[in-house]
Amino acid sequence: MGDYLLRCIEGGEILPEHYTLSCPYHPGFIRTEYKARQLNVHAKEPGLFKYIDWLPVHSSLPTRAEPVTFESPQLSRELGLKNLYVTFTGWYPKRGCFAKTGSFKELEALPTVVRLRENGGGTLVVASAGNTGRAFAQMAVDFGQPVVLAVPKRSADSIWTIGSAADGLIQLIAVDGDYSDAIAAADALCREPGYFPEGGGKNIARRDGMGTVMLSAAVHLGRLPDHYFQAVGSGTGGIAAYEAAMRLVADGRFGSILPKLHLAQNTPFTPMVSAWKERRREIMPSDMPNAKEAVDVVSAHVLTNRNPPYAVSGGVYDALSACGGDMYAVSNADAASAAALFAEAENGTDIDPAAAVALASLIEAAENDKINPSDTVIFNCTGGGYNRIFAECAPVKVPVNITIHPGEKIQL
Ligand SMILES: *Cc1c(COP(=O)(O)O)cnc(C)c1O
Repeated sequence: MGDYLLRCIEGGEILPEHYTLSCPYHPGFIRTEYKARQLNVHAKEPGLFKYIDWLPVHSSLPTRAEPVTFESPQLSRELGLKNLYVTFTGWYPKRGCFAKTGSFKELEALPTVVRLRENGGGTLVVASAGNTGRAFAQMAVDFGQPVVLAVPKRSADSIWTIGSAADGLIQLIAVDGDYSDAIAAADALCREPGYFPEGGGKNIARRDGMGTVMLSAAVHLGRLPDHYFQAVGSGTGGIAAYEAAMRLVADGRFGSILPKLHLAQNTPFTPMVSAWKERRREIMPSDMPNAKEAVDVVSAHVLTNRNPPYAVSGGVYDALSACGGDMYAVSNADAASAAALFAEAENGTDIDPAAAVALASLIEAAENDKINPSDTVIFNCTGGGYNRIFAECAPVKVPVNITIHPGEKIQL
C-alpha cells in the first residue's frame, strides 16, 4: 500500500524521499508516482485513508474525515443541471461528513502528518490563521503531533480546536505584523533542526490529500466528471484535481478525458483570473492592483494568496492548460446568494465563504451555457458546517504562547 516514487516534473529525475518538498536541480514541482496503477479503495481504512494507494504514506491515522460525494436534488433543480454532484469536506453528519475543523485542509493535514512521521518525524510549522492553521492544530489534539502556528496578531483568536491540546503540543505564535511577517517568521524557524514546513503546494501529501476529492467523485460516479468547480487561493486543490484525474485516466476504468477545471477567485482580489484571461504564465503586479485593500474587502480570505504556485512547472497554469480550464471572478454578493441557495437545498448547512465563491461560479457557468445541462459536474464544496460544529462540538480557542515583532526570531 502506498508505494511510490518522487519525480521532478521539469527534469524527470527520481528523488529520494525524506519529506522532500522540491528538486535540488529544478524550480518546478515534484510529483508522486504510485506503484498501484489502478485505484483499489480500501474500505476498511479510516476516512480518506481508504485512498491510501494514491497517498504518499504507508500507514494511516484513525479519522472520519474524508470528502463525500452526493447528489443534491434541489440544488440541481435550481441550477437546471441533470448531473450535478457535490463533493463536500466539512461537518455535515447527515451526509456522512465528519471533518471537524470544517474544511478540506484536513485532507492535507492528515497525510502530511503521516508522511512526516514515516520520514523521521518532527515539528510541523504552519503560517496560517485560517483553515490550514486549524486543521494542523487539530492534528496536535487528535494525534499528539507537535505544531507551531505563526499567525498575524490580529487573527490569533481565529484558531480553535475540537478538544483541547495536551500542554506544549501547539505553539501559537502571534506576529505583530501582517501575514507576510508571519510567513517570514515560520520560514526562519524551519531552518532550525527538527522543524519542518507544511510546504504549501510543493508538499505532495497536501496535493494528493486534496486529490482525494476527485477520487471520491470518480469512485461515486464510476467515471471522471466533465467539469470540476473550486474556489482557489493558492490553486493547490486545482492542481491536485488535475493530478488525480491523470491517475484516474491511467487507471483505465474512469474514461480518458480530463475534467475541465473551473477555478474561481473573489473580487476584487483575482490575480490568477487576471493572468489566465490573457493566457499569461506569469502573474504581474497589475493583476493585483491595490492588493492590501483588495485583500481586506473579500469575503473569502483563504482565497487571497499573493504568491500562488501558478507559473511554476506543474502549477495552476499547466493544470488549466492541460484540462482546458476556465477562471471566474466572483463578487461577495453573488457568493452570499450562492451560500443561501445551498443552505436552502441542504438542511440549512452553512458553507465556507470560499465554497460559496465556487458555487457562484458554477451558477454563472450554468447561466452562460459554459456547461451543458446534461454534463456531469462536481462542485468541490471545500468547507462548511461551521454552525453545527459550534453548536455540537464545543470548539476550544487555542491560547497565544508568544508574541513577537516582525523580523524577530521565534525562540522555543
Ligand atoms: C484553502 C481553501 C480553498 C483554496 O484552496 P487552494 O489551496 O487554493 O486550492 C478553498 N476553500 C477553502 C474552504 C479553503 O480552506
